[in-house]
Amino acid sequence: MSSLFPTYQRWELSAKSAKGCTLVDTNGKEYLDFVGGIAVCNLGHCHPNVVDALVKQAETLWHVSNLFQIEGQEKAASVLAEQSSGDYVFFCNSGTEANEAAIKLARKHTGKNHIISLANSFHGRTLGSMAATGQSKIHEGFGTMLPSFTYAKLNDIQSVQEQISSETAAIMIEVVQGEGGVRSIDQTFATQLKELCEEHELLLIVDEVQTGIGRTGKRFGYEHFHLSPDIITVAKGLGNGFPVGAMIGKEHLKAAFQPGSHGSTFGGNPLAMAVVNAVLETVFDESFLAQVEEKGKKFQGYLQEALQQSAAVKEIRSLGLITGIECHEPVAAFITKARELGLLVLPAGPNVIRILPPLVVTEEELQQAANILAQVVGHTTATVH
Ligand SMILES: *Cc1c(COP(=O)(O)O)cnc(C)c1O
Repeated sequence: MSSLFPTYQRWELSAKSAKGCTLVDTNGKEYLDFVGGIAVCNLGHCHPNVVDALVKQAETLWHVSNLFQIEGQEKAASVLAEQSSGDYVFFCNSGTEANEAAIKLARKHTGKNHIISLANSFHGRTLGSMAATGQSKIHEGFGTMLPSFTYAKLNDIQSVQEQISSETAAIMIEVVQGEGGVRSIDQTFATQLKELCEEHELLLIVDEVQTGIGRTGKRFGYEHFHLSPDIITVAKGLGNGFPVGAMIGKEHLKAAFQPGSHGSTFGGNPLAMAVVNAVLETVFDESFLAQVEEKGKKFQGYLQEALQQSAAVKEIRSLGLITGIECHEPVAAFITKARELGLLVLPAGPNVIRILPPLVVTEEELQQAANILAQVVGHTTATVH
């Protein structure tokens, strides 16, 4: 009997240890971990640079208040500002908190409440981020949502345009909807969004919690679409498993976040910052990112080849190393079967298998995963159930 609130339908799997892309369970069985803590362990489990940085910091100084000067925070902020469209950074502890900061900043800067987000988006579980999330199943049972969010359709600029009013503060998007089925914005939509934001003086908020920090083969996913967001949120891969998030904003937003405007006890503490600096140093490297892009293309090729015979597969979508295999049927049984065969993958909605290998994955491991997936969905639809 568990004393936990049953907020998760947990797998029959308990991890004992993990290194790189390999996870070992308490029975000694090895898995190829293409979940990576849900796009968190971008550098693989226990990456030596990250372990070193954390251990050293743990022996020196864990935590001080944000009333203190924090050298590691200044350093991480300057890297994030330099490498993004933003100029200033606020550190917090999770993706949802980064989005809360973004929503608060957008409201305070504009003096307006209305934010347009997209149907099937996912922005987190706290009251603000939950309201931003365009999925009624996330809202159900929790009473009145924080006003004033409306939801436009992905890649349908007219549906965005129709919702803009004089009360609109911002448009908030993911460039690839992760939880929503690995669905990407297209370049036309991106360009039109940019134009709409300029025309109506709206802030563009891009939630890079899942797509940021190298996942798509670029530092941030928005770079693929030539966007220049006013606000960017990151978390997941930023700490490689250490809980940390960040909200990055442009220069013109600075005045809205003054002392007392917003805060966090733990946000950006020395332990978190030691990890973030090690992660950024490793991931924000041109040759590292080029390899991620290359591996993403190769993996797409392996999957196309391995799954071409499968009647179950409808479409394979990917950007760098975030991949979705949309099936004609629910994928829950496929995911269980893959796990039995030693490959850990996730669902994204009922019909999509989501694959998030660590960015340090080898081509051999990608090929191995494609082979396992072929066994799982390969030649049949019904018999695997
Ligand atoms: C996971 C996720 C979040 C929420 O992050 P938490 O750290 O769980 O609060 C927000 N936005 C996106 C796009 C995500 O994938």
